[in-house]
Order: sequence, then structure tokens, then C-alpha cells
Amino acid sequence: MSKRVTARINLAALVNNCQQIQTIAPHSNILAMVKADAYGHGESEVANVLEPYVAGFGVATLEEAEALRDAGINSSIVLLEGFNFPHELAIADELRLDLVIHHRDQLELLLSSSFNAVPKVWLKLDSGMHRLGFSMESWPAALERLRETRFSASAICMSHLACADEPDHALNEQQVSAFQSVVEGLPNAKSIANSAAILSRPDLHFQWIRPGIMLYGVSPFGVQRVLSDYEPVMTLLASVIAIRKVEVGDAIGYGASYVCSQAKRIATVSIGYGDGYPRAAVSGTPCFINGQRCEIVGRVSMDMITVDVSEVADVQLGDQVELWGENIRVEEVAEFCGTIAYELLTGLTGRVNYQYLRPPQ
Ligand SMILES: *Cc1c(COP(=O)(O)O)cnc(C)c1O
Repeated sequence: MSKRVTARINLAALVNNCQQIQTIAPHSNILAMVKADAYGHGESEVANVLEPYVAGFGVATLEEAEALRDAGINSSIVLLEGFNFPHELAIADELRLDLVIHHRDQLELLLSSSFNAVPKVWLKLDSGMHRLGFSMESWPAALERLRETRFSASAICMSHLACADEPDHALNEQQVSAFQSVVEGLPNAKSIANSAAILSRPDLHFQWIRPGIMLYGVSPFGVQRVLSDYEPVMTLLASVIAIRKVEVGDAIGYGASYVCSQAKRIATVSIGYGDGYPRAAVSGTPCFINGQRCEIVGRVSMDMITVDVSEVADVQLGDQVELWGENIRVEEVAEFCGTIAYELLTGLTGRVNYQYLRPPQ
């Protein structure tokens, strides 16, 4: 059966990207972010390939952690948003998870529990993003509280930057100095850097870095600064299912929103918002057919898009179309959709077929 839509995942590129990260942060442990199905790349495949190269994995939910254990992952797994109820803590214990603790109730719940697999605790400071974390005032007391317990040995001081993708933003310095003022002099390991900070702030690598998007070869800074040292891991492919000629004045697609100002050849391609290709993609969004860049014309449908192939030689039914990946950066497509690459990658639906290219053994 021919596949309508395929996400081809280049696992060798993933490994190369990971090694490149270790090269630029040689003294840091890598906590590989594999939340949201490894940014849409397939959590268990990604984690299995990365496991020899990283110190642990970061996930958002218990289900994601469980899937990693089921896939045979034995490394440390950090539950980034922690837990809120005793039964969740019991599952975390069973799964041997390390825990981000970001508010007082979590801390008390953990300390009153009979947790068997003594986890590493990542004690999170709200240094100015105001989303998760203990306040500047309460963080030291939380660490103090941990110190009296069996969870103390390995507590990691953690915070997260709101504007790391804008290196000149004033909030970065404010957050960094807030973090420094609280962790100053502590013997504990520290961690603050996501991909953007790993790239732009080597002074913030500390003992643990937390790369997400860059592992997948995609820039946290968007199309203005793509990463030439990193290879896109995902290439999203569909195929040509119809070809027609249209004349001046003909409209294409729903709403007749696109009207041809000249005669064109149009290819209809087997992907739409039902697959996770965003409906927000405007006319002019690039794709790649037979070695050439082309542009989408007209609205994205649920199962199809229409592409101007007037300039592409010899387009045939069944030809492969790249929506993003090796030739068209997902950062660029995101720009045309008014969003970020993160959202496109994590937005693919269950209709997409995954094909894994294994690294040479
Ligand atoms: C997702 C996440 C990251 C990774 O962010 P990228 O921008 O994808 O590198 C790092 N730290 C935390 C706490 C996260 O939730």
C-alpha cells in the first residue's frame, strides 16, 4: 500500500546532532528532551538511539515516561512538570522517575511518601518566567527542607529562561542574575539552558544542559538563524495525486481565495490539516518537488493541498513532495504559517506513517 504521508526520520542525523551538542558543551550532561513524542519524531525510537549518548531524558507526562520504560529505556527519566496527587507519585516511583519539584505541595507530598526508588530531585526556581517554580523567597527554604531528607544528596538547581531565543532580551540577564544569587556557593549541580541558551550562552551550560529542538536539527531562533552544524532529522513527504492545467481567472480550492493571474499547472498533493499540515499555511508557502522549490496556492484542505508546478519539469502522478526537511527548512514553513517549528513538528496526527532510517551500526 502506498503511503499518503510519511515522516522519514533520519536517526543518523539525530545522533550527529547529539554529538555536536556534546562537542559544544563538553563538560555538561545532556538531558535529551523527548516530550511530545520527541517533538513529533517518535519517542521510543529517538530515545533508544540516543540512550548511549545522553545522561537522561526529559518528559512532560507520566504516560510519556511509561512509554520510555516500555521501550526498554533504563536511563534517568525526568518528569518535568512533576505530579500533583499521591497516585501519580506512586506511578513515578514504580517507573523510577526523577522529579522536578516546583511548588510546596509537591515537596510535602514527596517527603511524606514512602517512595522506594529515591529519585534525583530537580528543584525548580521561578527566576522570572512566572510559569513554574518556587519563588526567589521560598526556593532556599525548599532546598533546606530537602537537605534534612534522603532526597537531598543529588538535588539539582534548575530554572528556565523565558526569552533565550532572543539573546539580547533584557529578561535573560535578570533571570540569570536571579538564579545566580540564589544558587551562589551551593555544591549542587545546576541547569538552566535549553537549545537557545546552549547555543548563545556557553556560560550557562553548567552540569546539565536540556536540549530539545536542536537535537532534531531545528533552530530555536527560527528561519533567521538556521543551524548549519545540525541536520534536520524529519523529512515530511506526501505525493502528487492529480495534475491539471488552469487558466487566467480560475480559482483554486476552498473559498476560491486564490485566483490565477496567469495560466498554470497545478499539482494536488496528498497532505492536509488532517495530517497536521497547518491550515494556516498561506499561498506562497514553499515545498519541494523533483529537485525544485514550489509554492502552495489556495487553501489547505483536510486531506490535500494544491501546488503551483508550472516551473517544474515533468511532474508525474505519484511523485514525492517534501513539505519540510532536508530541502525546505521547517523553520521557514513555520514562518509562512505564523507559528514556530515546534508547533508544526508536534502537530502531526496519527495518519502520518513513520519511516526510520537507522544509523549504521
Ligand atoms: C522543552 C524544554 C526544554 C527544551 O527546549 P528547546 O527549546 O526545545 O531546547 C528545556 N527545558 C525545559 C524545562 C523544557 O520544558
